[in-house]
Amino acid sequence: MIDVEEFRLQARAWLAENMPRLENGLDPFEAMSDDEDDRHAKSLQRTMYEGGYAGIVFPKEYGGQGLTPAHNRAWTAESKDYQSPHRFNMSTVAIIAPAILEFGTEEQKKRWLPGILSGEHFWAQLLSEPSGGSDLAGALTRAEQDGDTWVLNGSKVWTTGGHLRDMGFCLARTDWNVPKHKGLSFFIVDLHAPGVEIQKITQSNGNAEFCQEYFNDVVLPADALVGEPGQGWAIAQRVLFFERSAIGGSTIYAGRITGRKAGGGSTRRQRNLVNLTRSRGTNQEPQTRKLVAEAHVLTTVRTHLITRINAGTRTGALTPQTAAVLKMFTSETSARIASIGYELAGPEAVVGDDAALGALSFGPEYLVRQSRCIAGGSSEIQRNTIGERVLGMPRERSDDSDRPFGEVRRGRQA
Ligand SMILES: Cc1cc2nc3c(=O)[nH]c(=O)nc-3n(C[C@H](O)[C@H](O)[C@H](O)COP(=O)(O)OP(=O)(O)OC[C@H]3O[C@@H](n4cnc5c(N)ncnc54)[C@H](O)[C@@H]3O)c2cc1C
Repeated sequence: MIDVEEFRLQARAWLAENMPRLENGLDPFEAMSDDEDDRHAKSLQRTMYEGGYAGIVFPKEYGGQGLTPAHNRAWTAESKDYQSPHRFNMSTVAIIAPAILEFGTEEQKKRWLPGILSGEHFWAQLLSEPSGGSDLAGALTRAEQDGDTWVLNGSKVWTTGGHLRDMGFCLARTDWNVPKHKGLSFFIVDLHAPGVEIQKITQSNGNAEFCQEYFNDVVLPADALVGEPGQGWAIAQRVLFFERSAIGGSTIYAGRITGRKAGGGSTRRQRNLVNLTRSRGTNQEPQTRKLVAEAHVLTTVRTHLITRINAGTRTGALTPQTAAVLKMFTSETSARIASIGYELAGPEAVVGDDAALGALSFGPEYLVRQSRCIAGGSSEIQRNTIGERVLGMPRERSDDSDRPFGEVRRGRQA
């Protein structure tokens, strides 16, 4: 295996030759529509794949490079001044691909992983439902076995980019006669299959990246099932770990991730604050200095937290659930910096033009700041996870965990 330092030098030379650089530290995706961003991310991923830098820790037989997390860290550090397929990394490489790697059959890994690592198939996470996303184990979408196939019915919601994705990774109930955590399974769903209807949802900032999907008798082949029937909750726990690690900035499966969902753009937003106050000449005012310093402290603490939690989970000193600490801190930091930006920008956040404020529009950022504390599991849920599964505090009371899910009263019945 190539030595990490030698790999670093090769990656540095390849990046300079092949990947587009950031302009003034900014990623072009920030000014792109969702479909432009998706297309751009796919093409960057393809370039990396052809250059031998996609899926650094994934085994070679599935299209990866067969290297180690240390190689991936070297790649991430070297690529910090270059464009990166953030959206693709976030949803597909850092979350779905490791789940298929861990739980898929040999055939599923050979069939799906090369298409992911080469940027061909962009995947969606189909977890949240209209009845609630926090109680993931209470999923109502059902898959029923019919001979060699499964038939999917129900609805998922808040799916990032659902209308643009090729494939979906879907949690569905396959057994109503056992307690809720035991009757779930994961399926691979072709989002263009007959019976899949996708509707876009427009947000308060005008963005329409969310979707709701309706499944009406969608026929899934036998090999759409990932893992065993009933293994869905165990897979969901891993998917959430991969997601929290990715949002928190500590994934080992993909390179640099920053973006709308990751909220990992705190460093970039903090830099924009500094530029804004300098260009206005307000950077010496006490209140401005206080706010800019707060943003700086939060960003710096986050960077050290990533290093510490990464090291701890790698050596086993910290449990994988500790990723919830990173996810929560990243989300809360991101929301707070958006509020600081809004306060510093003043009326121009609402009526000013972007050019006067740098590339960032603080108003729309402020409008959606809380979404970062909801995506990938809300901050309340992260706090529950930290309390119960990191600190070992008593579990939250539950009335529906021990009974067959089919007997649990729901909605108007309750
Ligand atoms: C930017 C963004 C991207 C997203 N992308 C996806 C995606 O691609 N795929 C996908 O499946 N989902 C996605 N989601 C959905 C997200 O996972 C859910 O919104 C989230 O899990 C919360 O679920 P909910 O909105 O249904 O709120 P609910 O579960 O209805 O919760 C409502 C409120 O109650 C609180 N609450 C609920 N239960 C508890 C409890 N036990 N203790 C304390 N407080 C509680 C919650 O914190 C929340 O404040 C995305 C969301 C956002 C904002």
